[in-house]
Parts: sequence; C-alpha cells; structure tokens
Amino acid sequence: MIPQFNSFAAMVTALPTDKACREYLETQRWGGVPVCPHCGVVDANHYKLNVKGEFKGMYKCRSCKERFTVTMGTMFEGSPIPLRKWFMATFMFSAHKKGISSHQLARDLGVTQKTAWFMLHRLRLAFTDSNDSPLGGEGVVVETDVTIHGGKTKNMHNKKRAAMLKDKSMRNDNKTSISAYIERGGNIRFDVIDHNENEPDLLRKHVDTDSVLMTDTANAYVKVGKEFAHHASVDHTKDEYVRDGVIHTNTIEGAFSHFDRMVIGTYHSITPSIYRLIAMN
Ligand SMILES: [Zn+2]
Repeated sequence: MIPQFNSFAAMVTALPTDKACREYLETQRWGGVPVCPHCGVVDANHYKLNVKGEFKGMYKCRSCKERFTVTMGTMFEGSPIPLRKWFMATFMFSAHKKGISSHQLARDLGVTQKTAWFMLHRLRLAFTDSNDSPLGGEGVVVETDVTIHGGKTKNMHNKKRAAMLKDKSMRNDNKTSISAYIERGGNIRFDVIDHNENEPDLLRKHVDTDSVLMTDTANAYVKVGKEFAHHASVDHTKDEYVRDGVIHTNTIEGAFSHFDRMVIGTYHSITPSIYRLIAMN
C-alpha cells in the first residue's frame, strides 16, 4: 500500500528512511513495476544490482542492459542530497504560502545555503507549468489583470532617477509588468509582459476564447474582449468592485496580493526571469 500523508509530521513518520522514500517514489512513478528510462521496457524482472552487498535502487535493464534508478529523469537525478531531505524540501516548498528562502530551508534541513538554493531552483523548475494549452473554455470564467513590480526609484542611481522623474515615458522602464490569468476554482498562470508581446497577444495565448472573461476597464481589454464568448468588466475608477455577484476580479487580486507578500517576504528583490520561474500553488 502507498503511504498516505497530509501533513509534514505525517510524511516524516510514513517515510522515515531514504529507502522508504525511494520505494514510495518507485510506486508513484512506476506503479511497482520498474520502467527502463533508456529503452522504455517495463519488466518486473529487471536486474537489481547490489552496492556493497545491499540493494539501493540501482537496476539493470533486462533488454538494453543499461543501468537506471527511479530518480533518473526527475529533479532528484544525480543529486548527492538524501531523498528524505528532498521530500521534506518539496513538502515545505509547496506548503508554505509565502514561499521559502534558501536560508530558511538550509536551517530547516541542516544543509548549506548553497545546497538549499540549488534545491529551490530545481523545485521551481519542476513546479513550473509546462502545459501551454490555454486556460478556460466553454462556460469557464477566467479573470485577468496586470500588476507592476520592482524598480523602486529610491534604489536607483541618482542620475538615472533624475532622468526618469523628468521623462514620464521612462517611468516603467525599470519595472516588470506581470499579467495573470486565473480560472475561478481552477488553475492560475503568470506571464511577464515584455516588448515583444502586449496584453491582448498574451490573453489570446493563455485563455481559450470560448471562456467568459472578467477584467477591469483598462483599454487593453476592450477590443480583444470582443473575441471571447462573453466579456464583463468592473470599473475600479468608479469604486465598482462586484456587480450582480459574479462580475468581479477579486480572485485574481487575491492571487496578486499573495504573490506580493511572497516577493516582499521571501524573495525581497527578483529579476524578471525569476518571476517566470516562481510557481504558484
Ligand atoms: Zn532498457
């Protein structure tokens, strides 16, 4: 039976050793029958190789004769960090609403900050949504909004700040605009608006046009909104936040405030490429 756990304490109890973690991973990944990652052959009788008289998860394929372990092709591959610490890090990373810093993780796991930083990097990559198909669909409400992050003028070089204060068109040059798309009761996706793609382009890329779209009254949404099954907007400039109980962008604004707290509380200062990597869940 696969151990079940719904808290950190329960996981540590259910999977007390690296061996238990490895067997858990084998069950989750292979359903109990080893799959050779080199040739794809599924065989309950792939050879089990002992290391110093003990089986530690190294298999040899019966078909292609290559060696493999269950971590091959996963974020755990080739890592000298014990699987149990990886499991703890994964739990903390996904459970802590505000994210977790490498310094905190290092203290919690008893590893160096450099190691923790590396683990978090792999975790963020693994948690990044690699599915590019649009969100929403017929009858699904999708909210979208944009938030601006970064580049406080007080941290800027004096000359640059003076130039920026003079020329209003430069105001957002050092900031990152982030758009987000959220299905009510479903998935969320973030994207960084750069010079190549504007908000309507991104909207077409991330949201199925059969969806019901909810936005604020920003000009960027007016024209592209007509391409969707339905488009409703609330006018924040007139203090309108909810209309008829369903027309609002409160879900996305909640997600942004969660994102803001995470950036401020954990990451302090991040570059646009990191914004792309931070996974929300
Ligand atoms: Zn093979």
